[in-house]
Amino acid sequence: MTHILIIGGGTGGIMTAAQLLKKGNVKVMLLEPAEFHYYQPAWTLVGSNTYNFEKTKRTMASVMPDGVNWIKEFADKFDPANNSVITTAGTEINYDYLVVSPGIKIDPSLVEGLSEAMDKGVVCSNYTGSSTHLGSPKKLQRRHGFIHTTRNTNKMWWRSSKNHVFGGGTL
Ligand SMILES: Cc1cc2nc3c(=O)[nH]c(=O)nc-3n(C[C@H](O)[C@H](O)[C@H](O)COP(=O)(O)OP(=O)(O)OC[C@H]3O[C@@H](n4cnc5c(N)ncnc54)[C@H](O)[C@@H]3O)c2cc1C
Repeated sequence: MTHILIIGGGTGGIMTAAQLLKKGNVKVMLLEPAEFHYYQPAWTLVGSNTYNFEKTKRTMASVMPDGVNWIKEFADKFDPANNSVITTAGTEINYDYLVVSPGIKIDPSLVEGLSEAMDKGVVCSNYTGSSTHLGSPKKLQRRHGFIHTTRNTNKMWWRSSKNHVFGGGTL
């Protein structure tokens, strides 16, 4: 039996686990500390005040495919020479194959003044939703207020020309 370790229980990790289990003769372990999974594409609708943020949230247990060995810990160190990953709790997990799917880290501080503008409520984004690394749902929900209380002001919508999460769900 092949032992597969997946890091991350977002759409990437969950889908990979489900597909691998269909093949059979595999033991799938999935490292994910979060209790909740979010359906991020719907945040575009949340941002435009046409969908409830809470409806994008599911318990991680409810989306975890049957047969997955869910380890509720955070991957901390890779030891590829020994085919192992060590968690922040110090657990060492061995694998035959490793799938790394921890999502991306959104860091507004890399753009000068952006964090301050978001905190002030004059700039907002669909991408700052909620998970262990994406930030606070308040910032996403603040966008409702932004859109609906500034009806008579000029708004600028920005779309990056570079690769990013999903072009259609821009700011
Ligand atoms: C507004 C918006 C609209 C979108 N629209 C679309 C669309 O229409 N179509 C489309 O295809 N895509 C769309 N996307 C993109 C899509 O939702 C994301 O690409 C996808 O959800 C990312 O999944 P992921 O598994 O890579 O990452 P995530 O969902 O971010 O999951 C990563 C998981 O890894 C866990 N993790 C992180 N670090 C560790 C660690 N060290 N150890 C263990 N676990 C860890 C986290 O807790 C998290 O649960 C949209 C995204 C947004 C924000």
